Amino acid sequence: MAISLRTSRVCSEKTFPAPLVDGALEGTQGRKSYGDPFSTSGTHAPSGAVRPRAVEEVQEVVKLANKHKVCLWTVSRGKNLGYGRSSSVVKGCVILDLHRMNKIVEVNEEYGYAIVEPGVSFFDLYEEIQRRGQNLWPSVPAIGWGSVLGNTMDRGFGYTPNGEHSQSQCGMEVVLPNGELLRTGMGAMKDNKTFSLYKGGFGPTLDGLFYQSNFGIVTKIGMHITPAPEAYATLEVSVPKEADLIPLTGTLSDLMRRSIILNSPSIANIFRIALTSKVPEVHAKLAQYMEPNSYVPYDVLEEIRAEHNWGFWKAYFSLYGSVEMLPALIQTVQRAFSTIPAEIKEEEIPYSGIQTLAPLGIVDSRSEKGGAHVDFSPIVPPSGRELYQWYLTAKQRTIAAKFDFFADFHVYPRYVVGIELVIYTLREEARVLELCRNLLHDGAEQGYMEYRTHVRYMDQIAAKVDFNDGAFNKFTRRLKDVLDPNGVLSPGKSGIWNEGVP
Ligand SMILES: Cc1cc2nc3c(=O)[nH]c(=O)nc-3n(C[C@H](O)[C@H](O)[C@H](O)COP(=O)(O)OP(=O)(O)OC[C@H]3O[C@@H](n4cnc5c(N)ncnc54)[C@H](O)[C@@H]3O)c2cc1C
Repeated sequence: MAISLRTSRVCSEKTFPAPLVDGALEGTQGRKSYGDPFSTSGTHAPSGAVRPRAVEEVQEVVKLANKHKVCLWTVSRGKNLGYGRSSSVVKGCVILDLHRMNKIVEVNEEYGYAIVEPGVSFFDLYEEIQRRGQNLWPSVPAIGWGSVLGNTMDRGFGYTPNGEHSQSQCGMEVVLPNGELLRTGMGAMKDNKTFSLYKGGFGPTLDGLFYQSNFGIVTKIGMHITPAPEAYATLEVSVPKEADLIPLTGTLSDLMRRSIILNSPSIANIFRIALTSKVPEVHAKLAQYMEPNSYVPYDVLEEIRAEHNWGFWKAYFSLYGSVEMLPALIQTVQRAFSTIPAEIKEEEIPYSGIQTLAPLGIVDSRSEKGGAHVDFSPIVPPSGRELYQWYLTAKQRTIAAKFDFFADFHVYPRYVVGIELVIYTLREEARVLELCRNLLHDGAEQGYMEYRTHVRYMDQIAAKVDFNDGAFNKFTRRLKDVLDPNGVLSPGKSGIWNEGVP
């Protein structure tokens, strides 16, 4: 086996012309180039790509990168839209694209888990389970073409009870920056039979070191999968007023803490409800305003809301259980919402692990094709009170920047991922960058940090990690120096650099 990197140039902004490099999996509008299609700046553009097929090839690539001092940026399928896709913090990295490593190593129906390589998409896993006729519902994020492993490494999530991917991951195989191969948890013992069953292993839990970091290249993970429930129902809860976000969120998170609701409810605001509705008149009305440098005024949204008797907020989630349990679960949810003016509907379309690409369409909704979006994703406490306060500040910022506030809030038992999805056109990039910087600043002022971010903001967020004079950042830098002294793996990922850099 002979592998050679296509470039031996050192990753440095001064020396890299950052050409367009092709060969990535096809993305939005059929684009196959690496980098971020949602940006016109070349600041984070890669210089080349390498696509190994096997673990041994990854080991070889890492050794060559060390020898020639070339920095790599790992992606699994490189579909990280809204967070930089396959662009690197440092301009000129070589993308280590693992999409050709696409084996589904095992799917265990009895215990409900799968072991997958980085190239396996949510579609692939779903289709394989269907092909085998197994009684499992794998996790489904909003769009199914991403990598199960890559999404998990960035702490992404889907919408079945095992949808919090970092919690469902069990067992990991990693190529370290020196090319050595490591297995975590029970996998640390050769031929152990509980690799994907028991997360802990013996001694410290190492898995967390490889999340959102640059300490290794993950080449396999075990993932727990939800067994197909006997019975389920998808519910929608709508509330009419903006301030009803507080009881809506508080009630949902309480029901989650009591294990009545097992998957993460998604909360949409009136803008998202209108935009994703299938009503042509509503779309025609929105289109009058959805142009560069403009947003849909809130009195127009209120008019649409009243006309269609929609809520200002709508939460979607499912209930899963046995045939005997389901009616009681529905009754429990109805009782919990009986004290607020909520409308509850049983939806016909379930959260059943069926993969789709449909939500991608929203990206082009701002009058021009080739639209873009960026996600701002703070973690907020789950009572609803804090979320509402944060939302009001973020909404004002968004209006002032002349964008629409698209709420994609995800409720968990003890926190909310308050995703604001900003849709923009490439002509508006400068304004969207400023908006994101302001959102980051405001969020930090209120005591919140993002769970995940675009490569562009990694340093800005890391700078907010300031407890005890930045002890956390000092620790990760020390680890980086020990594990990756040449700094070849994803430099700057999550603000982790070698000592003395940049
Ligand atoms: C309309 C829309 C809806 C979306 N909905 C969701 C959603 O519901 N849930 C969600 O989570 N996201 C969502 N996203 C964001 C994103 O598209 C997905 O998270 C997608 O799965 C990420 O791409 P990927 O899986 O190919 O990961 P990659 O792009 O391959 O990886 C993501 C990052 O993880 C790290 N990484 C990847 N592989 C490895 C590895 N082998 N070892 C170490 N580190 C690695 C790298 O830093 C990489 O940059 C959405 C985006 C859009 C546009």
